[in-house]
Amino acid sequence: TNALLTIDHLQTHFFTPSGVVKAVNDISLRVREGETVCIVGESGCGKSVTAMSVLGLVAEPQGKVVGGDIRFDGVDLLQLSPLEKQQLRGNDIAMIFQEPMSSLNPVLTIGEQIMEPLWEHLLLSKKEARAKAIELISLVGIPRPEEIMNAYPHQLSGGMLQRIMIAIAISCNPRLLIADEPTTALDVTIQAQILDLLREIKETYNTAILLITHDLGVVAEMADYVVVMYAGKVIEEGPVLELFSNPRHPYTRGLLQAKPVIGQRKKRLNSIPGQVPNLIGLADSCYFHDRCESCMSVCRLKQPELKQIDDGHRVACWLYEEESGLA
Ligand code: SF4
Ligand code: MG
Repeated sequence: TNALLTIDHLQTHFFTPSGVVKAVNDISLRVREGETVCIVGESGCGKSVTAMSVLGLVAEPQGKVVGGDIRFDGVDLLQLSPLEKQQLRGNDIAMIFQEPMSSLNPVLTIGEQIMEPLWEHLLLSKKEARAKAIELISLVGIPRPEEIMNAYPHQLSGGMLQRIMIAIAISCNPRLLIADEPTTALDVTIQAQILDLLREIKETYNTAILLITHDLGVVAEMADYVVVMYAGKVIEEGPVLELFSNPRHPYTRGLLQAKPVIGQRKKRLNSIPGQVPNLIGLADSCYFHDRCESCMSVCRLKQPELKQIDDGHRVACWLYEEESGLA
């Protein structure tokens, strides 16, 4: 199948008083129709900024996409006007964030908030929108949808609100769903239910999902393809089974050392000693070198490129660069 979302050599920088933060530093990725791609990495590695760049939500002038190319179904997203971007969001591309509360309006009822995009994007009548909203609420597994229509956000639990966000996200039949840590704020049982719901949606509507997470348990359950980011770079990527069974990059290996058990999402990425480096003024080196037990002299002098090592499996590490002569 064709790539629905294509990101090529994306660079998103933030201009701060202390210097330029290269939050996303030349990354490329593809999401195909009906496929779930997980971007995984520690906080501050550029996962969310990648999603914001796709959605046209990077706050200018501090932040800016300074290079590369983002295409959705062939359309160059970086060339769209703000209005066109807005039309794309919540239509072809929908999003779900970690904190549903911050995306909902506290003074409007749930019903009003679900119906709004139905009027706006699908141009339904009030009656049709109401019927569709009720249908969506039950679709995301909430009982007594008519009552929920009249509730305000503060009256619902975090898990219910996330279901509502998903209802809003899927209301316009998006082809791509971007979810940034959608279950991080929820307790484990609710997390599992929300992930089940996302999988059901993917299967029913063939929706492509770009899922951002720091949680390898979520990756194991959801991903078809995994992209591991570190310090604004993709350092390894591959099909989920290949990556989990045969990780090559020392960072990925570290992440997987305590391999997550399905259904148990406790493993956090901070089990690797050290921190993501300050992204200002990074030298030409492997950005992981000061945390890497396999560090060689070349690693401090030159950045390894992402190289294909197997079908769809790519890694950026000098350990796999025999032909370079440098390692
Ligand atoms: Fe470690 Fe060197 Fe590979 Fe970086 S390039 S991960 S420092 S071995
Ligand atoms: Mg984030």
